[in-house]
Amino acid sequence: MNGKTHLTIGAVIGGIYGLVHAPAGELDTILFFAGIGGFSGLAADLDGPSVLTRKLTKVSRILHTSLIVVGLSSLLLLGWLTYTQASFRPDWLLAAFAASIVATLLGLLVSRGFWRNALVSLVGIMLAVYGFDQGWYWLIGLGAFVIIAPWLSHRGLTHTIWIVPIWGWIGFGLEQQLGIDGIGIASMLTYLSHIVADMFTPAGVKVLYPITKKKFKLKL
Ligand SMILES: [Zn+2]
Repeated sequence: MNGKTHLTIGAVIGGIYGLVHAPAGELDTILFFAGIGGFSGLAADLDGPSVLTRKLTKVSRILHTSLIVVGLSSLLLLGWLTYTQASFRPDWLLAAFAASIVATLLGLLVSRGFWRNALVSLVGIMLAVYGFDQGWYWLIGLGAFVIIAPWLSHRGLTHTIWIVPIWGWIGFGLEQQLGIDGIGIASMLTYLSHIVADMFTPAGVKVLYPITKKKFKLKL
């Protein structure tokens, strides 16, 4: 199952959840939940080496490399701005940080190898350090996930049902911080959508690993 499919499924489920959840169906709420869903729908495939790589076209490789370059350079620029101008803390800064981290991770999703894993972990370390600095435990949790995931074997621990409540806990922390109801549930549902979607592939998913290595499959 490729990244685009997971992203689409996650974003659609997230968007529908947002639509049901938004008091007056506000577009920004729907888009926000679609974003949460898309990210949660992709997160499980941060484990490497990704099977997605096989089908990479030249265009998508260029696209992903640009995402990494743009994401990492904006991270450096934003970090430098924050460091040198302590009084300069506009509201959009956090959103810009989040956007650059998502761009970097999206770009790294399809590459493979030691340096890819090291870069993903580096992004995780940045998240965890920032979370520690702010006392945001959910962000430390997300950072830990991003640090560890790339080093796990593909369709291993990140594709088990044990991770779903942990991912939900991260989402719930964000929910409490932003005061937006439903992020916890939405992130669990969309993370789960990834595992279920992978179960429709011939390889199946070891949903209960490490208790059993049985591969669970679904058929249409
Ligand atoms: Zn997967």
